Amino acid sequence: MGSTASSPVSWQTAMKRAIRSSVTLRQMLGLDAETAPGAERDFPTFVPLEYFSRIRPRDPDDPLLKQVLPIAAEDKVQTDGFSSDPVGDMGSLVAGGLLHKYHGRALVVTTGACGVHCRYCFRRQFPYHDVGSQSDDYRPAIDYLRSATELDEVILSGGDPLTLVDQKIDRLMSELEAIPHLRRVRFHTRMPIVIPQRITDQLIDRLRQSRLTTWFVVHANHAAELDDAVLSRLAMLIDAGIPVLNQAVLLRGVNDDAEILASLCTRLVNHRVMPYYLHQLDRVTGAAHFEVDEAVGRALIAELQKRLPGYAVPTYVVEQAGEASKTRIR
Ligand SMILES: *Cc1c(COP(=O)(O)O)cnc(C)c1O
Ligand code: SF4
Repeated sequence: MGSTASSPVSWQTAMKRAIRSSVTLRQMLGLDAETAPGAERDFPTFVPLEYFSRIRPRDPDDPLLKQVLPIAAEDKVQTDGFSSDPVGDMGSLVAGGLLHKYHGRALVVTTGACGVHCRYCFRRQFPYHDVGSQSDDYRPAIDYLRSATELDEVILSGGDPLTLVDQKIDRLMSELEAIPHLRRVRFHTRMPIVIPQRITDQLIDRLRQSRLTTWFVVHANHAAELDDAVLSRLAMLIDAGIPVLNQAVLLRGVNDDAEILASLCTRLVNHRVMPYYLHQLDRVTGAAHFEVDEAVGRALIAELQKRLPGYAVPTYVVEQAGEASKTRIR
């Protein structure tokens, strides 16, 4: 199907070629022109062509488009209960971009860069520059990880850790491997979904050499995001023995429908990816129009349980500041 012959451009080139304005994005899709919303200044449009190619032209309701196109509703800044730090991350920042909220695992904000800008992102307001994780080769975070002997897992997050170049990932992995109590490293990344050629043999070889067990948690919200290019790169990871889980966010107008969620989960398990979490939206300023009622979410999960094998049904969770884990919604 589709692009079989030509090999893709490098992932760095893909980043450079990404669409960076809502006006251009609308034009390229044959949609009516609209002036860019104010919110686009603070959180610009960023859509790689690899992702763009999966969006249907001339359809303002396309579920992939809705995830990435800035719209006027984002400018409604004062919505009750929505804020710039909805999950209380700032209170859990320990050192140099390291978040230690949960027992046994800590999360490192490795970079502010992503391979796509998701309009509902809970870190769209995150002060990446102030937390200073990128500087000093993560020295403060590494020092913290070494001293916190209860930890056996480190989560590399961001932003997206796979926007770091291989040399940087290699150095970071080496530092982590030298910390004796760590056993696992987990990549929280949307890159395999948006710029799948980021998954290279070279990257996989580095991860396989590690004494740390590697897990991947990717992020797709709709089956249409999982095209052949994406599925073949996910298969490379899984064939290399790296487990891949998926987390999705429940989004109004994107996937708040039993049929759509069932086809996402089915496509994932058909290709050996485990549905992990379905997240209730984090209430970040500018994303209120994406929110789905928890009652609706519960009904959707009940419907999935009727239709799918147990392992194909994600756990429906919400992130609550101050809790010792994600909170399960039942
Ligand atoms: C979500 C999250 C984790 C990972 O939680 P799991 O339930 O283990 O997937 C870890 N640390 C922070 C700060 C998180 O937000
Ligand atoms: S890839 Fe993840 S961190 Fe980056 S904008 Fe999307 S949801 Fe946010």
